[in-house]
Amino acid sequence: LAENIQKLDSYLARFRERGILNRIAGQDKAGEAGLFETRSPVDKSLISQVAQGGAADIDAAAGAASDAFAAWRDLPATQRRNILIRIAEGIEARAEEIALCECWDTGQANRFMSKAALRGAENFRYFADQVVQARDGQHLKSPTLMNVTTRVPIGPVGVITPWNTPFMLSTWKIAPALAAGCTVVHKPAEASPLTARLLVEIAEEAGLPPGVLNTVNGFGEEAGKALCAHPKIKAVAFVGESRTGSLIIKQGADTLKRNHLELGGKNPVIVFDDADLERALDAVIFMIYSINGERCTSSSRLLVQDTIREEFEAKLVERVNNIKVGHPLDPKTEIGPLVTEEHFNKVTSYFDIAKEDGATVAAGGVTVGDAGYFVRPTLFTGANNRMRIAQEEIFGPVLTSIPFSTEEEALQIANDIPYGLTGYVWTNDLTRALRFTDKLEAGMIWVNSENVRHLPTPFGGVKASGIGRDGGDWSFEFYMEQKHIGFAT
Ligand code: NAD
Repeated sequence: LAENIQKLDSYLARFRERGILNRIAGQDKAGEAGLFETRSPVDKSLISQVAQGGAADIDAAAGAASDAFAAWRDLPATQRRNILIRIAEGIEARAEEIALCECWDTGQANRFMSKAALRGAENFRYFADQVVQARDGQHLKSPTLMNVTTRVPIGPVGVITPWNTPFMLSTWKIAPALAAGCTVVHKPAEASPLTARLLVEIAEEAGLPPGVLNTVNGFGEEAGKALCAHPKIKAVAFVGESRTGSLIIKQGADTLKRNHLELGGKNPVIVFDDADLERALDAVIFMIYSINGERCTSSSRLLVQDTIREEFEAKLVERVNNIKVGHPLDPKTEIGPLVTEEHFNKVTSYFDIAKEDGATVAAGGVTVGDAGYFVRPTLFTGANNRMRIAQEEIFGPVLTSIPFSTEEEALQIANDIPYGLTGYVWTNDLTRALRFTDKLEAGMIWVNSENVRHLPTPFGGVKASGIGRDGGDWSFEFYMEQKHIGFAT
């Protein structure tokens, strides 16, 4: 821990001195609206001042992205691929700095963030390899025409990202956009601006031309809104809350923006009594108590069959009470502090809501110290699906357990929710798994497994969890336009 703190201190020194500035056309720029502070959730100390961007900064960044677009679009695919690979190498070389800064900025434990930083590199490597095929057209024959369908990058795009695992999520959007030949204006979350700055530095050091990736910090209602409304920005890739998602659509309506929305979730994990219960237990724990439970794909609703409920919940309580909460840079820590005071207040408010609703706080339900925003991992039992703790996205290390008796009831409860991002089904009955997954309303489902990301597969949600898919060729569908040309023969 002491060694990690010392390293972090040296990484942060330059931000303490100079602040975190916007980066537009390869230049550092102050924000038109002045500065705002970013503080660490670990001890509430000041990390840095941050440039607060507004409409004029977005206009400058969109102009830079627009000016840089034609040259980036027309660069031979192999050259674009080489730059993306160099960005991946740059991320790998600075993975420790990224991970430690991310932990300090967000409160996420280093044991998870060190892997998330490398996943950021993997996102660039994967989409670097797709650069060439992103342009492939289909040649469709007809008696009188040779029909050629090509794909072209849509133009400069906006990327708006949230504060949970901000580095990985930014790479997940920016890598395919660059691979497709788009230029980017990135508006990172105001609560965690550090690693977006590292990413743009790494990209420029890797040879990304100025203006191809621009970073404008600031608040959603100012910089984010202006980005959605800007006429030079052709599409917006957004990750965040469902209600912000509908604002993204409204704000982009006048300029007919194409939007990709990755939104909230209240994902069910359904455990049938014929499942491998030890494996299911491990996965249930991992999918809600890792990454502080601040992950969109977390399984925050446990649907457990009544025949095994008592034993399963008892084992859960024992495991949850042993989870180590502490300093995110301590290698032993499993849960760090929640990201901000506002989010801490939101998560802890559900400790009372659960009791008011008549559920039982079987584990946790308490805060830890008052130095930072620490809470004990929490388990609510005795819940039903009508309670707020079962319907609302809490976005913390908080699990609500709901019993069911039949497969039909499990399906009814699982689908009785506005969200539809992921689902996890634990059963050894293959026919049931096929039946159940066919009817489960979710964009992504894992059977007898926790969430394992495989980059070529489609990622995204249904219902209030989003519109559109990322991953593999699906990313290029968003960042590119299909174009048809018919040649008379
Ligand atoms: P948020 O919606 O509050 O903010 C996300 C981003 O949008 C921030 O950069 C913010 O500044 C910006 N923003 C806010 N208002 C805006 C506006 N009017 N116009 C433009 N931009 C605006 O979300 P958050 O609290 O930062 O993140 C947590 C949420 O993100 C959770 O709901 C979580 O489920 C979701 N999430 C979803 C996925 C997914 O893949 N589906 C992944 C991670 C997080």
